Amino acid sequence: MAKQNVRITATVCSMVAVLICGAIFSWFPVLHGWSSLLLTVFLAIVAGVVLWRYVLRQPNPYEDLEQAIHLNEIVPLYQPIVHSDTGELYGVEVLARWATPEGELVSPVSFIPLAEESGLIIPLTRKLMAQVGKELPAILTARRTPFHVSFNFTTAHIQSDTFIEDCRTFIRQFPPGIIRLTAEILEREPFEKVAALKETLALLQAHDVTIALDDFGTGYSNLNYLNALPIDLIKIDKIFINGLAENNNAIRLIDLVIDMAKSLNLKVLVEGVETSFQVDYLRQKSVDYFQGYFFSKPVAVNELALQLGKDATT
Ligand code: C2E
Ligand code: CA
Ligand code: CA
Repeated sequence: MAKQNVRITATVCSMVAVLICGAIFSWFPVLHGWSSLLLTVFLAIVAGVVLWRYVLRQPNPYEDLEQAIHLNEIVPLYQPIVHSDTGELYGVEVLARWATPEGELVSPVSFIPLAEESGLIIPLTRKLMAQVGKELPAILTARRTPFHVSFNFTTAHIQSDTFIEDCRTFIRQFPPGIIRLTAEILEREPFEKVAALKETLALLQAHDVTIALDDFGTGYSNLNYLNALPIDLIKIDKIFINGLAENNNAIRLIDLVIDMAKSLNLKVLVEGVETSFQVDYLRQKSVDYFQGYFFSKPVAVNELALQLGKDATT
């Protein structure tokens, strides 16, 4: 309902409340004259305030999201990432969900854009990191190589004063050496202050954080960044492999991207892998890691524990 219509409705309701109160009190023999009038006015004001507070309360998505972050309703799911040659678990990408009190798990597509525009993404990500730090250590045991835990970070967060400390706080929640943090950076807008970003990313690498360029080939992804920024890994977006089964152009394009990444000595992860055809094709192209429904959808921590158990026995 438009704001104007809501106001008119509330005003009309308040006036109706005054009339009803007036009519009721005029029937009471003890409440004639001033006392009836005063009581009518008092009750009408109460009715008006209640109506204005509740009828006029516009849904405010910013406040709702802020409240959800505060109440720990933003929860992590984990999508496994596997080594392409052995199929063993390499790590996980942490993906946010909004667990509403009604028991619904809301997709990040409907709240991450608002979080990013409003700046709430920084407290949201911190809360998510804290929750992962609480639930993940219990299911991880020592492995030959550290378990890679990937988060999606905005460049605004990465370049904030607290970022390195946020990462260190996260890593400190695990026994030493058991995990390695990956920072997935995504260009929803062209990167600003590339020189400063380069410095921060290098500092993160010095703190043993892996830097991944997310959704490579989409959005503002720019080949220049591969040269300008210290990137360890590129994540090739699902759109590049969507047509892999049927069309030659898709194959040429994916070949080109993989060859270029390899020539720059970057590790390559392909996202959105769904079919055995894609797995076979990409395996012979020496892609390093796979992520996609063919292996697993994003799962809650208890399901991840089962997958880790199976992985340990293979
Ligand atoms: P993303 O970072 O590209 O994450 C991969 C998305 O692809 C996930 O969607 C995942 O569930 C989906 N996906 C993975 N494998 C497959 C597959 O085989 N087939 C199909 N159809 N989809 C697959 P999800 O979880 O809905 O996340 C959507 C986006 O929301 C993410 O895209 C990321 O950009 C954003 N996002 C999620 N969590 C966070 C967060 O904590 N922080 C920030 N900044 N962004 C987040
Ligand atoms: Ca990502
Ligand atoms: Ca991605």
